[in-house]
Amino acid sequence: MPSRKFVGAHTSAAGGVFNAPLNAMEIGAKAFALFTKNQRQWAAKPLDTETIDLFKKNLELSGILPKHVLPHDSYLINLGHPEADKRAKSFDAFVDEVERCMLLGLDRLNFHPGSHLKKHSEEACLDAIAENMNRTLERTSGVSLVLENTAGQGSNLGWKFEHLAHIIDKIEDKSRVGVCIDTCHMFTAGYDIRTKEVYDATWGEFEKVIGFNYLMGMHINDSKPDLGSHVDRHDSIGKGKIGLDAFGFIMNDERMDDIPLILETIDETIWAEEIKLLYSLEEK
Ligand SMILES: [Zn+2]
Ligand SMILES: [Zn+2]
Repeated sequence: MPSRKFVGAHTSAAGGVFNAPLNAMEIGAKAFALFTKNQRQWAAKPLDTETIDLFKKNLELSGILPKHVLPHDSYLINLGHPEADKRAKSFDAFVDEVERCMLLGLDRLNFHPGSHLKKHSEEACLDAIAENMNRTLERTSGVSLVLENTAGQGSNLGWKFEHLAHIIDKIEDKSRVGVCIDTCHMFTAGYDIRTKEVYDATWGEFEKVIGFNYLMGMHINDSKPDLGSHVDRHDSIGKGKIGLDAFGFIMNDERMDDIPLILETIDETIWAEEIKLLYSLEEK
């Protein structure tokens, strides 16, 4: 039986988004993530027809399906910003990100929920995020908004499953909201997955609070910092504090079938090996 797992990495789109599927092919990826614009700048020139066509052509060439591509938005965007003008700027940039996904024929956009910057309450921040998501959904179509869990570094929200559930609860069109769980963030947020026992307990909690029907992608990273440290620092698979066993549990967990499983590990020169390593953990 062919594998039901779609493992890849956050590939470079340097030179143009159309290079990302080619870079994915080169490392034997069956999924990939990309930035559709420079992730550290607000403005970007619109995607032209030639770029869009070439992206679609290369995606087809790679054999990777649009649902196994997990675009990531700009790091500058904070939909929960405490200041209205900055929140509005983030909203405009976010809508642009969704529109870029629509043009590329992609069906999901991964983003970090937002930060309260210690200037308003957690609840006000989460509510602002949900409101901006609802407004985005009204203006766009065909793209699901995929909330990523965070490590909880600084004032970043989304590290507790309850934060994500709070936002989802307020989304009007629940068919267009999802979550992406990053294993490093999960672990440093305090959710252990190192043994089968705690792995089952953590995902049981996930099912209870959020639900697997919302899981639309994962970031597959080992962690340099310890459990519950709230520090976001990725490590190569099997080389960090999480260890290899947890990744074996994931590769044999059918609840993670058919979604993009994306490496954001620190040494991209070994991504091809890490992809092979992950597939080798599957019990056939
Ligand atoms: Zn991530
Ligand atoms: Zn991270």
